[in-house]
Order: sequence, then C-alpha cells, then structure tokens
Amino acid sequence: MKRTKVIDALKRTDFGSDITVMGWVRSKRGSKGIFFIALNDGSTIKNIQIVGEDQHFDEAMVKLITTGACIRVNGVLVESPAAGQASEVQAKEIEVLGACDSTYPMQKKGQSFEYMRQHAHMRLRTNTFGAVMRIRHNMAMAIHTYFHEHGFFYFHTPLITASDCEGAGNMFQVTTKNLYDLKKDENGQITYDDDFFGTQTALTVSGQLEGELGATALGQIYTFGPTFRAENSNTPRHLAEFWMIEPEMAFYDKQDLMDLEEDFIKYCVRWALDHCQDDLAFLNQMIDKTLIERLESVLKEDFVRLPYTEGIRILQEAIRNGRKFEFPCNWGDDLASEHERYLVEEHFKRPVIMTDYPKEIKAFYMKLNEDGKTMQGTDVLFPSIGEIIGGSVREESLDKLMAEIQRRQMDTTTLEWYLDTRRWGTCPHAGFGLGFERLILFVTGMQNIRDVIPFPRTPKNAAF
Ligand code: ATP
Ligand code: MN
Repeated sequence: MKRTKVIDALKRTDFGSDITVMGWVRSKRGSKGIFFIALNDGSTIKNIQIVGEDQHFDEAMVKLITTGACIRVNGVLVESPAAGQASEVQAKEIEVLGACDSTYPMQKKGQSFEYMRQHAHMRLRTNTFGAVMRIRHNMAMAIHTYFHEHGFFYFHTPLITASDCEGAGNMFQVTTKNLYDLKKDENGQITYDDDFFGTQTALTVSGQLEGELGATALGQIYTFGPTFRAENSNTPRHLAEFWMIEPEMAFYDKQDLMDLEEDFIKYCVRWALDHCQDDLAFLNQMIDKTLIERLESVLKEDFVRLPYTEGIRILQEAIRNGRKFEFPCNWGDDLASEHERYLVEEHFKRPVIMTDYPKEIKAFYMKLNEDGKTMQGTDVLFPSIGEIIGGSVREESLDKLMAEIQRRQMDTTTLEWYLDTRRWGTCPHAGFGLGFERLILFVTGMQNIRDVIPFPRTPKNAAF
C-alpha cells in the first residue's frame, strides 16, 4: 500500500481506512500487553502514535522496535482517545526496515549541542534539528518568493573567482598545481601560468561585484549561494562556508535600500510565523521561551535608522553612565558585536539600520558622502545576532571610485571588468548581503551558527 506521510496521516479523518506509514521510532513504551510507538518521518515535528497488541506480533520483532529504528507499519487509522492528537494507527503488520542498537548516538534526550555537533550526520534525526532544517527550507522559499514577486532576477555568480571582493585576505585558494612539487619561477615565486585557470584563483567571499554587473543590466537581481571565508575566528556567528543572499538594484538610493532591507526581513519573519507554526512552537518551548514573542515584535515596529556618528554618541553616553564594554568605541572604530547588541537590545529595543560609517572601516566600493569622511553603508543590526545584513549604496562615479582605490593602494588588474560598469553607462545603484544562517539563527532562536546548517565548516572541522 502507498505510504502516507505522517504530516498527512495526522490530518486524515477517514477513520477505519487502511493506512501505511514509515519512519523512525522516537520512543516505544508498553503496558498490559499493548505497546505504543511514537513514529516520526521528518515531514513534521509531530509524531504519529502507533498502537499494537503484543499477542499479534512476533516477540523478537517487537524487541527490535527501539529508539532510532526504521519501521513500516500497515494498519487502520483510528480516532485517538489520547489528548493532543486526532488520530493514531492501530498496527496490523510491522516490518523493521532498519534496526538500531544501543550504540546509536542520538539515543538519549537532552544531549548537549556540542555532543550533537560531533555526530552532526545523525543529529538531523532529532526533533530540534528536524525543526531547524524545515525552517531553513521555508526561509529559502520565502527569499525566492519575495524577490520573484518583486521583479528581481535570480542571478548566478561564480564560486571560483580571480578577484577578491573586499580587497582583504582570508580566501580559500583553488588550484590544480601539484602542492607536493610546487613549480616556481627563477625568483622562487609560485607560478600560475601552469595552473588550471592560468592565474591565481580562490573561492568567492561575495558575489557582489558580479552582482553589480547583473543589476546594471537587468535592473534588479539577487544571488543566493554558498560563500567561503577562511576567517580564523571561532565565534558562534561565523562559518567558513555559509550561504549569502545578495540583492543588487539599479536606481536605488540609500532610502530605497533601507526600505528594502526592512521590508525583506519582515517578509521572511512573517513567512516563518505563517508557515512554520509547529516547528516554532516546539523551539519556543524547548530552546527559547521568548522566540515567538521576539519574532512578532520585529514585525510590529519600524527599524531605527541610526547614523554611525549618533550611535557612537549613544554608546559613549552609556559608558559615561557606567556601562562597561570589552572593546573601545571611539569615532572611527568598527563596532564590536557587544556595541551593536547594546544599541539594539538595551537602548532602542528594536532592530537598527546603522548608516554612514567612517570610510576607514568600510569597503572601497561604497558611496562617499559629501563630508568626505563617511560612506553610505546601511547595516542591519538585530537582537541576539548583531549584524545580520551588510549593505551600501555603491559609488557610481568612476573618478571617485578610482580615487578610493588608489588611496587604498589596491591592485586593479583583476578589477578592470568591474570598473567597466562605471566607464560605460554608469548608474546609481545599491545592494546588500544577508547571511542566510544569521537569519536562521534569529528565526529559530538557536545560539550557535554551527547548529543551523546541516554540515558546518569551521576552523579545524570539515567532517561529514
Ligand atoms: P561580521 O562583521 O559579522 O564578520 P561582515 O562585515 O564581515 O560581518 P559582510 O562582508 O557585510 O559581513 O557580509 C554580509 C553578511 O554576511 C553579514 O551581514 C552576515 O550576515 C553574513 N556573514 C559574514 N561573514 C559571515 C560568516 N563568516 N559566517 C556566516 N555569515 C557571515
Ligand atoms: Mn566578517
């Protein structure tokens, strides 16, 4: 008989009909010749209850129905006498598809996340990771839907690149050169003419520069793909491989950009509340009791729009009033996460879009303000996360952009194609990057970014 998914089985009301369900045993208990199985197949956080009478089943088979085992059940759908569930399955036949002995690492409840990370390949079968992964999927759908409905084109930028977006290091090199017998030139320098691409290449740290080419042709594009940063910082908010969403829009100014950032994030959060109710209810109960309240509160209020200079003033006033921070925050400093969180969580108590940063702490491509000191960045800072979006208006003037590039003594040989956007038919434009896992952290209430991606890549860890 055709399998019914648990999510559908729980909605069926044709009591008395035959039904087949398959899944993994969450738990089994028994009393007075009857056993009860909580069965989950990943389609929903909810389990379906299977009821069987010991006398109808082979004793050895019943013994194999342990936590983690995979089974197929043929039976009859019946109305459940138990509270909290409409239906259950009265088992007629049970087949153990995959037994699961006591060495199964996800056996016990309440294991630490650290323990589960060491078994990241099996943690997906737990309630928490099932919920997180279903929400992750739903957020991807929300993002594609939002942009599609707003006339953005999904634009694919390369993962292997010969240019470094931010002009900073921390890239993973890509090569087919023999690392055990590295060919060098007469000066002892590594050559790249004999490498696969004939030039030094690396995995992308951002698709923005190519995204700008898309936006200045198609009007509005977005990317959604993997991004790689060899940042040797072991924080709960950084991965070496993460997914980034980068919309880029022609003819957008700072105001348009901030409006889009706010509308887009609110849409995603609303989508989660509308489409992930069961998983959110579970996480709200098990992980973070204020989760749903926090998601709803983000929707209710306008994000604060705060110039950096004003932010520094507020932080310094807090320091004068006795607030202690680990890192300094004088005008010109890059704000640490503790500063961002103070502004968002303690001072304003709602999300903040911080704007107009000192040019020294921002990337070369941002549009310079008339003061000559600040740039039109628009980062979105969120409660419990800190920076969730990094955005900016892009400098569209070739002269100003070149002046900034020269000031930074950047090598333009691998950037000429980018500068062509300003040489021919340049236009005002803007864009931002949203870290997908940071959004998932916020929406799930999870604390560590390693726990919102199936197989995290972090320093000294590329297992699975
Ligand atoms: P941070 O200061 O937190 O390192 P950033 O300034 O390096 O962030 P951007 O280069 O602006 O970040 O990247 C855009 C977005 O990508 C960030 O707002 C964040 O959501 C996400 N992001 C950046 N680095 C990482 C990372 N290593 N792991 C996961 N997400 C990241
Ligand atoms: Mn960073």
